[in-house]
Amino acid sequence: MLLHSVRAVRVRFAPSPTGPLHLGGIRTALYNYLFAKKHGGTFILRIEDTDRKRFVDNSESYILETLKWCHIEPDEGVGYGGPYSPYYQSKRGEIYRMYINQLLKKGYAYYAFDTGQDIEKKRKEYNHHGLTFSYNFRIRMELNNSLTMTKEQLHDKLRSCSYVIRFKIEPGEKLKMHDVIHGDIIVNTDHLDDKILLKSNGIATYHLANTIDDYLMKITHVIRGEEWLPSMSLHVLLYRALGWSPPIFAHLPLILKNNGKGKISKRNTNSLNFPIYPIQWEIPKEKIIIPGYRELGYFPEAFVNMLSLLGWNPGVKREIFSLQELINLFSLEKINKSGVYFDIKKANWFNKKYLNKKKEEIFSFLFEEIKTRSILCKKDYLWKVIHLTMDRIHFIHEIWEHSFYFFIPPSSYDTNFLNKICHENTIFKLEKAKILLFHTNKFTYTNLKFVFQKTKNQHIMQLFRLALVGALKGVDLFIIFEMLGKKESIQRIEKLINKIKKKI
Ligand code: GLU
Repeated sequence: MLLHSVRAVRVRFAPSPTGPLHLGGIRTALYNYLFAKKHGGTFILRIEDTDRKRFVDNSESYILETLKWCHIEPDEGVGYGGPYSPYYQSKRGEIYRMYINQLLKKGYAYYAFDTGQDIEKKRKEYNHHGLTFSYNFRIRMELNNSLTMTKEQLHDKLRSCSYVIRFKIEPGEKLKMHDVIHGDIIVNTDHLDDKILLKSNGIATYHLANTIDDYLMKITHVIRGEEWLPSMSLHVLLYRALGWSPPIFAHLPLILKNNGKGKISKRNTNSLNFPIYPIQWEIPKEKIIIPGYRELGYFPEAFVNMLSLLGWNPGVKREIFSLQELINLFSLEKINKSGVYFDIKKANWFNKKYLNKKKEEIFSFLFEEIKTRSILCKKDYLWKVIHLTMDRIHFIHEIWEHSFYFFIPPSSYDTNFLNKICHENTIFKLEKAKILLFHTNKFTYTNLKFVFQKTKNQHIMQLFRLALVGALKGVDLFIIFEMLGKKESIQRIEKLINKIKKKI
């Protein structure tokens, strides 16, 4: 049923270049990609740039770079070429013009000359009587348009006034439509207004351009965000008026903020406590850079895996999938109808899962860290450190902050704790423990544990930790001792003793 009879699947990602993509946008691209690949189809990138007022520089390169980073590159479209060029709507004006003429000729569209003020005036009049104004079948015959004038009047008007072209919606129909995710939808055409198809500057609106392009580019499935669901009826009516059959529609659920306060959008970037952009975005002119998932250390595979499950249920218990596995499992029918909550903790969890498979990369990163600090150490030692600290990190770059104490003594101490222990008694305790360490011959994890467990003194353990790590954190203390060796461990204890001495 879903596969458009025998036609090859063709889907498109059709962003408007109004800024960076956010999580919802890139998820739409991903679902289109997965669906195309699953069915051996074509994934197209079309830039919907008819609204020049909202155009933002660099959006297009941002979109292309993001798709590349996610490894979900288009087969056709902007940046990739193809048989249906141009893939920029701003370059397809003549095509739209041709179809708008067809709609005018057949009486599906009409010219409207009302100015903004005229409409405002009408709106106020209606509001005054407790009614809502809508440019539709009820009111259009009271307005300044080609339906209410003679041919001669129209001719004159067209020469002297600016105009828009509106779609003439016929009332009284219960329009039956189907969405793969939302099921059957019935819309009463009485409730629709005569949307503008061509703006007064001669440029097609999104609705007209989108419909025409989807048809001409042979799009079989329109997979897009739920915010476009209310436009579906208009699009379906446009297809009908143009004599075409519509594609299959699938409107994806919204991604919601986990505080329950509505959907994620570009407008609320600052109020969110998680990144919203896949890759960094430099705000034009302001030179402010907002980091994206890429810059924050997320792996593209983890990001894509996480994103794929934001609204789609693969129907199996696992959660970790390669891109190929996602392709194999993907189906539009398993997409949720209701909004999905985004959880950054879950995103971090995904990254960690992928991090576990990236030991070599962690090694190289750590190797660079110690190289820039001119620290000499054996490969084996480095690997041991990685194995000891790996489960504490979610991102490669976190490795140094969780393992530095295996290479260098702490440069500072936890202030709160240090202040609490700044007295003679601590020095006495540390000196005593130092002697015990000095006389411990086998400086190994097991032996040290044995020696110090006898003392059963929690406090001394905390003091040791402060001396070795600088804070009450880090892996098992006796492992740190063994790794550092007797000489380095004792030196660090002496350093802490001196610090305390200086403070009291
Ligand atoms: N240009 C629209 C957007 O940026 C695309 C809507 C559609 O896919 O039909 O959201």
